[in-house]
Amino acid sequence: MGGDGGMEYPMATLITGADRSISSLAGVAIHELMHSWYQMMLATNESLYAWMDEGFTTLASCEVMNELRRTGDVPGAYTPMPYVDLYNGLRNLIKSGREEALSTHADHFTTNYAYGVGSYTKGAVF
Ligand SMILES: [Zn+2]
Repeated sequence: MGGDGGMEYPMATLITGADRSISSLAGVAIHELMHSWYQMMLATNESLYAWMDEGFTTLASCEVMNELRRTGDVPGAYTPMPYVDLYNGLRNLIKSGREEALSTHADHFTTNYAYGVGSYTKGAVF
């Protein structure tokens, strides 16, 4: 119980896949850690505003992973423009004609493609 008498909701994150590469494990771990800030500290509602939670998390994860590549802590090439893939993904969604409004409830998107690129990628670009 919080000091204001409200309920607190614990959150558990599972990171699966023992055969993942170190880059994949680092990427998902960083993404989930970023949720601790963008969802839990800022108290965004992922069902109503998925783009806020996933978008800010994706942006921060992109920055951190790129820095870890620069320092050599994870394999891969550092780039001075880490957002190129995000812009390309958003452009592809728009060109497909399948984009949906980000005000759509997370459970009510017509396609997972529109939800995923809209929430994660368009949110990050925003
Ligand atoms: Zn996420």
